[in-house]
Amino acid sequence: MATANGLDLPFLVAGGGIGGLIAAYALAHKGFPVRVFEQAPEFREVGAGIQLGPNVFQALERVGLKADMLADAWTPPSLQMRDALTGEEVTSIPLGEPFRRRFGQPYAVTHRADIHAVYLRACQSSNLVSLENNCRVEDFIDEADAVTLRLADGREVRGCALIGADGMWSRIRGKIIGDGAPRVSGHIAYRAVLRREDVPDDLWSPDMTLWAGPKTHFVHYPLRRGTLYNLVAVFHSDRYVEGWNTEGDRDELWKRFNGQRPEVLRLLEKIETWRMWVLCDREPVKDWSKGRVTLLGDAAHPMLQYLAQGACMATEDAVCLAEKVAESPDDIPAAFKAYDKQRYLRTGQVQIMARVYGEFYHASGVTAELRYHALHGRTADQAYDGMEWLYGGM
Ligand SMILES: Cc1cc2nc3c(=O)[nH]c(=O)nc-3n(C[C@H](O)[C@H](O)[C@H](O)COP(=O)(O)OP(=O)(O)OC[C@H]3O[C@@H](n4cnc5c(N)ncnc54)[C@H](O)[C@@H]3O)c2cc1C
Repeated sequence: MATANGLDLPFLVAGGGIGGLIAAYALAHKGFPVRVFEQAPEFREVGAGIQLGPNVFQALERVGLKADMLADAWTPPSLQMRDALTGEEVTSIPLGEPFRRRFGQPYAVTHRADIHAVYLRACQSSNLVSLENNCRVEDFIDEADAVTLRLADGREVRGCALIGADGMWSRIRGKIIGDGAPRVSGHIAYRAVLRREDVPDDLWSPDMTLWAGPKTHFVHYPLRRGTLYNLVAVFHSDRYVEGWNTEGDRDELWKRFNGQRPEVLRLLEKIETWRMWVLCDREPVKDWSKGRVTLLGDAAHPMLQYLAQGACMATEDAVCLAEKVAESPDDIPAAFKAYDKQRYLRTGQVQIMARVYGEFYHASGVTAELRYHALHGRTADQAYDGMEWLYGGM
């Protein structure tokens, strides 16, 4: 049991999103008490689809949540990339038995609300986790043998350590690293979820399909056991509104996808309400732990979504963090250092490679031709070789 000053104090987690909840559960799974403070009035996720690479299932297996995560997910038979102007198939990567044999785990897609619900139920089922809403974390003091958290309502809470899982605009990061605001990428994502019955049969596909166009891409796949259909349209734009999940502007979307394949345009037409995300990331850093305080998920290493790994990396972080704490419960600062040392190169690589993939998806002209020649006609094994660094382990 984690102790500080001879008292059994809980771990404190700032933020009850995907990262905060799985961190709390992973620590409780190892026997540590945890208090989670979420600023929102309830523990709830909005948003749309999340892709789950096989690496996240390795992490989930270690905390016993893999079956729960797969229960409502969809496992697409293949990853398809098509040219949004010509309709040509650029590449098709099978995700069936050979993929599972190679990586030891499946590839799945799920709703953000479903992944959050799996983590929330896991926390609720543990008597070591306390979930506290309407609790905005304002500040903290690391007192060397404990941490005191100050909440917006003036309350002070003591714990043995603090995990900042408070997302892209993390307050905790501000004090640990202090590198200012996130980097605005100039890319915008519009996301929508349709009911299966609202998708014409000739446009529905069981696959994870990506239409790559000049300065745009469009992704679709089924969700929630096939009852929903997820659409994500990404394009370059100078517009910037801080924050995410605001209502999108239809005219701007149409302008950016003008001239693309009818399959793309017909699906875009089906959507009445889009939500918009301004995509941001940060430069990778190391040493994101200081004394009894550390960071996790988007607070530690926010990334563009082009490798579909932000939630996966937050989950890997959580499992790694809990394992390091369990290895040296009497020296939490050392456990936190061991955790960020194990994680920073992997998460940094995903941050950097996500930018590269974004450029690759949005290529035009000669670069798009080169993309075609690089990817078309690869065998499944050649495609899997290219994924090994990411999917091969956590
Ligand atoms: C368009 C798009 C598509 C994506 N697709 C994928 C994908 O396919 N696969 C994938 O793995 N990832 C994907 N991601 C990334 C993924 O959504 C994020 O990486 C993930 O949600 C990060 O989780 P988090 O818990 O670290 O942060 P968040 O989800 O931002 O959660 C932070 C929580 O902290 C709370 N909070 C903030 N400040 C405070 C405070 N001061 N006090 C108390 N609470 C606070 C917030 O209310 C929130 O609940 C995508 C992201 C985007 C934008």
